[in-house]
Amino acid sequence: MKMSQLFTKTSKDAPADEQAKNAQLLIKAGFIHKEMAGVYDYLPLGHMVLNNIIQVIREEMNAIGGQELFLSSLQPKDSWEKSGRWHDDVVDVWFKTRMHAGEGYHLGPELGLGNTHEEALTALMRGHIQSYKDLPAYPYQFQTKFRNELRSKSGIMRCREFIMKDLYSFSRSQAQHDEFYEKAKQAYLRVFDRLGLGDITYITFASGGSFSKFSHEFQTITDIGEDTIYVHEGKKIAINKEVYTDEVLAELGVSKDDLTEKRAVEVGNIFTLGTKFSEPLELMFTDEDGMLKPVVMGSYGIGPGRVMGTIVEHFADDKGIVWPENIAPFQVYLAPVGRDDSVREHAEELYKGLTAAGIAVLYDDRDARPGEKFADADLMGIPYRVVVSEKTLAQNKYEVKARTSDDVQLLDAKGVIKTVIPKDI
Ligand code: ATP
Ligand code: MG
Repeated sequence: MKMSQLFTKTSKDAPADEQAKNAQLLIKAGFIHKEMAGVYDYLPLGHMVLNNIIQVIREEMNAIGGQELFLSSLQPKDSWEKSGRWHDDVVDVWFKTRMHAGEGYHLGPELGLGNTHEEALTALMRGHIQSYKDLPAYPYQFQTKFRNELRSKSGIMRCREFIMKDLYSFSRSQAQHDEFYEKAKQAYLRVFDRLGLGDITYITFASGGSFSKFSHEFQTITDIGEDTIYVHEGKKIAINKEVYTDEVLAELGVSKDDLTEKRAVEVGNIFTLGTKFSEPLELMFTDEDGMLKPVVMGSYGIGPGRVMGTIVEHFADDKGIVWPENIAPFQVYLAPVGRDDSVREHAEELYKGLTAAGIAVLYDDRDARPGEKFADADLMGIPYRVVVSEKTLAQNKYEVKARTSDDVQLLDAKGVIKTVIPKDI
């Protein structure tokens, strides 16, 4: 893409009320726009990154049998009354509204803007699950959730409107559920590995519900995190403060001396729901033995936006954002330096060559000072910077620099392609 065609601009300042590093940098780099506290728009570059993250998650969910769908945000009240979660003293993050009744807005039926989708999907699945032969099923989606969060100081990591990947498992027995739960755990580890967070993300024991003692969170170490966890490096697990008791430590076979207290953010979680929703919403199936039984369920969430914020927080340096290669909006930032015609021509030619090789290039064809251009490239976090100038052309070469290194290499076109070609995991 040519930079002259990109309508977003970088800016020197972020909004004064923005405290979080992730949002400050993403706003300055023109990746997001702040509508209000906890509500952000994704602009083209930010949208590219978000979609790249989503694609990694999608591939891993498909690999374990997930089937993607897209549910509505407007949800009727009745399913939520059945599960007992409609009233504000049970779930306090609801945004609620009403449907028009003709006579007046205030008279129509009440609606909720979905803060999660257990109720909606459980009700929907009644039309599709009747027999044990219809199980298991693993629908999932990337869909907007609305939550009236009390605090929102972590930029895009805690929003009032955000995309969630939510998968729900429907199984015929606890054994079938347990088998999938384990698969999902491994899939989550692969997701965070591929997104560059593997080393600092821990499977964390957290409070469960009436159907299992624990749920499992995927907690990533970061100072901006709102959770306190106790990490066991040897076992690569952690325990959330909420279940940090002598009894739990004994059960998990870990000693206090081997644990380190850390700040972390929950980037994903998996939860055994049992029959908490299938019973009240009457999602039943006829088993092989002819008995009518409630479906055994689980839920599996990841927040792609929260993951994106976490990546910014973790990798950024004093010059700006640093994207891992497989989610960067572009792999290469290419800039001609100098007004010489042959510099422009060579840069255009290299732009075409790299693009033809399948490499995503942001070509800076703007008339700006080199220092200004390079500062933008650094702020945006593009993995490689390639410069074409009279000096490099005198040697028939191009200058290549990785975002994370100060070393500059002089390479010919082939060498450039070899160096910058994405090394996907
Ligand atoms: P938290 O305890 O941080 O509020 P949660 O327990 O409410 O999270 P879930 O309802 O299980 O989280 O949501 C699944 C995933 O969605 C979380 O692991 C997180 O990645 C993401 N998520 C949850 N709330 C938000 C939010 N307000 N903004 C952005 N992402 C969120
Ligand atoms: Mg929450």
